[in-house]
Amino acid sequence: MLKDFFRKQRRYATIPSQDVKREIPEGIMQKCPRCGTISYAKELEKNLKVCKSCSYHFSLSAPERIAVTVDEGRFFEYDADLKSLDPLEFPDYKNKLRKDMEKTGLNEAVVTGEGTIGGYPVVIGVMDSRFRMGSMGSVVGEKIARAVEQAATKRYPLILFSASGGARMQEGVLSLMQMAKTSAALERLHRERVLFVSVLTNPTTGGVSASFSSLGDINIAEPGALIGFAGRRVIEQTVRQKLPDDFQTAEFLLKHGQLDMVVPRTELRQTLIKILELHANGGNADGKRPSTL
Ligand SMILES: [Zn+2]
Repeated sequence: MLKDFFRKQRRYATIPSQDVKREIPEGIMQKCPRCGTISYAKELEKNLKVCKSCSYHFSLSAPERIAVTVDEGRFFEYDADLKSLDPLEFPDYKNKLRKDMEKTGLNEAVVTGEGTIGGYPVVIGVMDSRFRMGSMGSVVGEKIARAVEQAATKRYPLILFSASGGARMQEGVLSLMQMAKTSAALERLHRERVLFVSVLTNPTTGGVSASFSSLGDINIAEPGALIGFAGRRVIEQTVRQKLPDDFQTAEFLLKHGQLDMVVPRTELRQTLIKILELHANGGNADGKRPSTL
């Protein structure tokens, strides 16, 4: 194995640089898009897909995210069979959905369900950016709204991981309606005084950033995540001003009060456990409800 690696590396050295990236055997090695370090995929996975040289956070699929977040063997999926229709008969939409289903093994761009994290029961939803760029159509909105309702009924804290390009253009106004639907469901959860933690991962943009993912009681992001509504160029043209270099990064938003925390992936599970612990038993370590309530 090691011998193969050196032999292959020597061979690649003669290939023009733009071809090198494509020639790295997928599944064995992965190249960091930020610093160029090449790591064994297995090593990278052990480090939760965070580059050891520069801490770049590679994107995680929904099943990967669930595996590194939820206690082993403690996840029960909701609504796995819900599939998108093509209400506007948008050109090629059905075909694209079918291809993404084959590619990801998922029926839609979000996986929802319940499980335990550090022994604490939660309702959890995780978006998958491989499926139509994690865009929110009717099914994504519906699955999230149903997960919120489950959290409200069972009084389990809700944790949603977002990774999305925004609303799904192929479903037009129906996909925009999901912003209102998910937000309304969360308002009900809020009134029921059930905790909602939103975890924004790279990228969280458009209608997802402008609805449920910004409505957490606690909003957490992964380092370096791109979070924003419209793209930089559109905003610069509209306001006719140059934007700062770090605009729309997790760190910029933390500095300006839009986020509560930026947490490296390697510390995220422990951070969530701590938050769940603090909010269990009405927020008191001794299990009594605070007297001010
Ligand atoms: Zn790197």
